[in-house]
Amino acid sequence: MSDSTAPASTFPRRIAEALLDVFFPRQCLIFGISTEDSPYRFISKKGYSALRFIGENACPACGAPCAGIVAERGQCVFCRNRKFYFERSRSLVVLDDVSSRLIHAVKYRAFHAAEADMAKMLAETEFFEKYFSGATLVPVPLFHTRENKRGYNQSRILAEEIAHRIPGTQVELLLKRSRDTGTQTLLSANSRKVNVRGAFYVPEKIKPRISPRTRYIVLDDVFTTGSTLSECARALKKAGAKIVDAATFAHG
Ligand SMILES: [Zn+2]
Repeated sequence: MSDSTAPASTFPRRIAEALLDVFFPRQCLIFGISTEDSPYRFISKKGYSALRFIGENACPACGAPCAGIVAERGQCVFCRNRKFYFERSRSLVVLDDVSSRLIHAVKYRAFHAAEADMAKMLAETEFFEKYFSGATLVPVPLFHTRENKRGYNQSRILAEEIAHRIPGTQVELLLKRSRDTGTQTLLSANSRKVNVRGAFYVPEKIKPRISPRTRYIVLDDVFTTGSTLSECARALKKAGAKIVDAATFAHG
């Protein structure tokens, strides 16, 4: 979907966009060059071309690019011995040096405004437009002290930017994180699984909002081992959800 068919910009949104230019000058977060000729505010044409898009040739379970991996029973080599609580997960790009520059800027340099670009890329992809359409997006929550420190939850902003672009898609903050699971970057796949086990829940007062007929999509910026997304799906199902998928911007 192009911006011309997106919901008309409201006055507050136009002000917000004008302020963006002041606080977040238009510059490619991947290559540091101008984005003047690009349809994206923070991704230049060169940056866009350098991203490795996964496309539809992906593992049906985890969304890993299947090229080069011998798929067995329709799954990638990593999914043979693992089980997720979500039905399937999909990612737009491969997590590599290029996409990680973008994700790092969003997460640690407060360039959360770039999530509008990431959402635009997702929404303009035919597959993702269909994948998200009509679904309720549930961002992976941060532990409250971490969110207070950062000032925002990057997954929530991404979810809201996607919902703004795809009609019939909404965002619900259904999950809470019961403890700070720390950074998982240096943990092995198994340690990550243990680390996030039981770390998410749906608060009692929110449970009545969960419908077995609604399709939920747990949303995060990066798919690494799938443990976090799977635990989020488990918590939603425990609270009454029946259809739970997952999606991330990058897969690494
Ligand atoms: Zn897989």
